[in-house]
Amino acid sequence: MIKIQNLVKNYGGIQAVKNISFTVEEGEIVGFLGPNGAGKSTVMNILTGYLSSTSGEVEVNGINVLENPLEAKRQIGYLPEQPPLYPDMTVKEYLSFVYDLKGCKLKKEAHLSEICDVVKIKDVYNRVIRNLSKGYRQRVGIAQALIGNPKVVIFDEPTVGLDPKQIIEIRTLIRDLGRNHTVILSTHILPEVQAVCDRIVIISKGKIVANEKTVEISRAVEGAGKLSIKICGPEKEVLATLRSTSGVQSAEVLGARDSDSITYYVESTGGLDIRKILFRTMAQKGWPIIGMESLGVNLEDVFLSVVEDPGTTGTKKKNVKGGKA
Ligand code: ADP
Repeated sequence: MIKIQNLVKNYGGIQAVKNISFTVEEGEIVGFLGPNGAGKSTVMNILTGYLSSTSGEVEVNGINVLENPLEAKRQIGYLPEQPPLYPDMTVKEYLSFVYDLKGCKLKKEAHLSEICDVVKIKDVYNRVIRNLSKGYRQRVGIAQALIGNPKVVIFDEPTVGLDPKQIIEIRTLIRDLGRNHTVILSTHILPEVQAVCDRIVIISKGKIVANEKTVEISRAVEGAGKLSIKICGPEKEVLATLRSTSGVQSAEVLGARDSDSITYYVESTGGLDIRKILFRTMAQKGWPIIGMESLGVNLEDVFLSVVEDPGTTGTKKKNVKGGKA
């Protein structure tokens, strides 16, 4: 659905985008992340036809954005960080205005009504935008992006400034939209990406430094293969038993010691989930487990590990999967 190939963008002497390539398949929700100045906006602006590239190819739904920007724009709905709303208009007036502006050919009333159903703004349809809550205004922003039924929807920081309930609602809405649209979500909120996106592309200093399925990253984040486990029992025997348990690669005393329990660090072979077998083994020995915790990396660690050393382009599996003790 979206194909970016060998994209380069120079601003005078500054190379803001350095030969990047990635694709987004139909129906995928992809998170596009990176620190400030990484080149996210530049890529988004080229993708949406607002900026030309220095070299490279960009295609949306088979249409070359650089050769045919008007047609390509019809394929894309865009919600910028500041939705382009007119506060003095009612929701109805505003959506009707955007419909005309886009030169939409679909049946107006039915199309706008359908969109209002999807983004749940029917109850404020005749209200003036200025008087709406931030959550509702964001929904109106999403509604304008959906006019014309674009195949691709791009969201830039869609939940900034919303309260927790509104955040959950907007995330749910984006996930629902992902069923019928290809979605790119640009955000700096990592748990949001984890909650919403199928895949994560990270850009740093103009290069792609990670391109991974979210489940792969979540696996590293959960880190079921590395445990801190608190057991009541004689230290030497417990340690020996842990080390001889099938699936255990190494076991060490972590040092934290209560009156009758000791905390151990246990690592499994190949990241296997050994929690159940450890439970059974210790139960057989009569040594109660009174605490067990997965020691994974968090998504922030993953993000920092890939953006701090953008020496290579493409996937850096080593960094993404390498947990820390
Ligand atoms: P991001 O959106 O990830 O914060 P940008 O795409 O805005 O990054 O910027 C990437 C790099 O290009 C930065 O170094 C920025 O200073 C530079 N840049 C962006 N726009 C311009 C411009 N119009 N003229 C010169 N340099 C620019």
